[in-house]
Amino acid sequence: TLTDLTPIDRTAVLDGLTRRPGGGLVATDVSAWFGERKVLDRVGLAMEPGRVTALIGPSGCGKSTFLRILNRMHELIPSASLAGEVALDGEDIYAPGRRITEVRRRIGMVFQKPNPFPTMSIYDNVTSGLKLSGLKTPDKDALVEQCLRRAGLWNEVEKRLRAPGGALSGGQQQRLCIARSLAVSPEVLLMDEPCSALDPTSTRRIEETIGELAAEVTIVIVTHNMQQAHRVSDTCAFFLAEQDTPGRIVESGPTSEIFDNPADPRTADYVNGRF
Ligand code: ADP
Ligand code: MG
Repeated sequence: TLTDLTPIDRTAVLDGLTRRPGGGLVATDVSAWFGERKVLDRVGLAMEPGRVTALIGPSGCGKSTFLRILNRMHELIPSASLAGEVALDGEDIYAPGRRITEVRRRIGMVFQKPNPFPTMSIYDNVTSGLKLSGLKTPDKDALVEQCLRRAGLWNEVEKRLRAPGGALSGGQQQRLCIARSLAVSPEVLLMDEPCSALDPTSTRRIEETIGELAAEVTIVIVTHNMQQAHRVSDTCAFFLAEQDTPGRIVESGPTSEIFDNPADPRTADYVNGRF
């Protein structure tokens, strides 16, 4: 599998393949409210297949809200409303008649705090999403192994798949959550500060996993860690909510541009840790 290869091998293999075209996510003019309060203002961003997009910016500027809008979790909050469009491979995920369970299967989410089912086995954690999304697999064992391998956890758990998810370390639990997300074959994986609760070693492991998954799944990651954004992402979007105005994207583009040659002085200040 691709994950068994070194990064250089992987690049060579990928270059020889036609990348799976699916998994492109485009947000257009997305605005969001909680009650009367507007928290996002006409946000537009293209998140491309095979790429990692990092969402950066200070707390409270709407990054998590934007992420929740991308897989229709925002609407679970009673006071929440929104405007604009989100298209997955050109199809509006908010179109009337579009099934929410289908949208959430295709666009997975990993949260800041690892949230495996603590008393459920590692094995059952991985397969837990299958029923909900109506997916059938001829070989569950093979699926579990594949997902745990892709999440970089297989070697650590293969001999104790029946142990409870809660028995793992924090970093392992987060990789288990990634494996669980992968089991339903998502095209997009949204990650909201997936390493904020983890130590540096676990953080590195997750970053490696992100790098490997990016070949197969479109990844959108919120991070407060500028070095992490620099290391893992191809594209960066800088969000800002100035003086009680709603959050907007100040600037987005290739990560190297955002860090080395930003167009907006506020971007330069933020990526250089000046606020
Ligand atoms: P970030 O992830 O960038 O820190 P959030 O998307 O969490 O920002 O929050 C954006 C704004 O929306 C903040 O002002 C926050 O207080 C507000 N907000 C977030 N969630 C809710 C909610 N469930 N109800 C009301 N306001 C919320
Ligand atoms: Mg947040």
